[in-house]
Amino acid sequence: MTAYPFEAPESQALLERAARVTPGGVNSPVRAFRAVGGTPRFMASAQGPWLRDVDGREYVDLVCSWGPMILGHAHPGVMAAVQEAATRGFSFGTPSENEVALAEEIVARVEPVEQVRLVSSGTEATMSAIRLARGFTGRSKVVKFAGCYHGHVDALLASAGSGVATFALPDSAGVPASSAGETIVLPYNDVEALEAAFAEHGAEIAAVITEAAAGNMGVVPPLPGFTEAMRRVTREHGALLISDEVMTGFRCSAAGWYGVEGPYDGGAPDLFTFGKVMGGGFPAAAFGGRADVMAMLAPLGPVYQAGTLSGNPVATAAGLATLRGCTPEVYQRLADVSSAIATATTQELSRHGIPHVVQWAGSMFSVFFREEAVHNYDDAKAQNSQAFSAFFHSMLSQGVHLPPSAFEAWFVSAAHDDAAVDKVVSALPAAARAVT
Ligand code: PLP
Repeated sequence: MTAYPFEAPESQALLERAARVTPGGVNSPVRAFRAVGGTPRFMASAQGPWLRDVDGREYVDLVCSWGPMILGHAHPGVMAAVQEAATRGFSFGTPSENEVALAEEIVARVEPVEQVRLVSSGTEATMSAIRLARGFTGRSKVVKFAGCYHGHVDALLASAGSGVATFALPDSAGVPASSAGETIVLPYNDVEALEAAFAEHGAEIAAVITEAAAGNMGVVPPLPGFTEAMRRVTREHGALLISDEVMTGFRCSAAGWYGVEGPYDGGAPDLFTFGKVMGGGFPAAAFGGRADVMAMLAPLGPVYQAGTLSGNPVATAAGLATLRGCTPEVYQRLADVSSAIATATTQELSRHGIPHVVQWAGSMFSVFFREEAVHNYDDAKAQNSQAFSAFFHSMLSQGVHLPPSAFEAWFVSAAHDDAAVDKVVSALPAAARAVT
């Protein structure tokens, strides 16, 4: 089954070698091209907006490592910071100044966040935030929304987005019923369902966790009033509200999605989770929020949480340089680039009469191959994934690397210059023809 426009022999050879020692040949499922078919490209290097694969082909990168590379690949300022940090040692296992500075940067940007704890991945951040919410409230149930992905935390894998959606899994094997039984899954953007769940279980619910603006079922922003409703209902019932900004944090604006939509009537979320951009391509993530809640964490309080590499000096140097590099001009460039690409895409698809809708959260966007707006996971699942696959492969063959799934956001960087945008735009007519 090679209906794909061109072959990638070196990537194919590496995939076969990888598959002997790694399940599916990949270290994160959505990197495999299972949903779209064909051979995932093994990358050899990356610079600015460009990826270069082991077959020597170049691609405009619209994945950006699934979000972190907001300044582009191998950004000189980030590179210098990493090199400088690395010359001073890789990991101390003691506190160090960069951790303080990174925490200060986050607290300065996101107004309701009084304190943060650094961890190494978004999964760790959400897992720890859930434990903290349970420890703070003394309750065990957690509400999540179908199609939202919060990493591969046991309790949060039910009806999850991202790779779980790509592979059409209802949830994951290996999650004990006792753990999944504490999770209440509701439709995103559905205030009535939220109120009904709290009417029934309110006294047992520790927290509602939500993607600040969903990006893991494709981009589905909260409808006006939905975040406020979550705030109101959680407050009425003594539960915490956790805003997962792992994807949106420092990308949608300097203060993430909170900076776009907040401050909210009725108050801010109690806890936030961050990752991706704040590590600048290195493993750094965080959770944080109200100081009285964060005071429950060890060594101050009874909720345990720890990490050998938490606050790693090289990762925090990359994160600091990246956050400091996120100037107003950078956000303007992200807006211009994403708008140019989305506008050209919609024009080309419309010209061919192809049903589609483009949805946005800040400069994050995705294209759904269906007519109507997408407000929840059921809507997202009702898109034409085959059309996406045809579109994806045509773009890839022309040197544009989209996320290999219809359930993912498209990411741009401030390094996407006019040449990169032109390359994307010029690939669109053939990609639209491939869909028809
Ligand atoms: N939360 C959200 C919203 C995410 O998009 C992701 C990853 O895509 C995670 C959590 C998990 O982060 P990580 O992959 O760093 O564990």
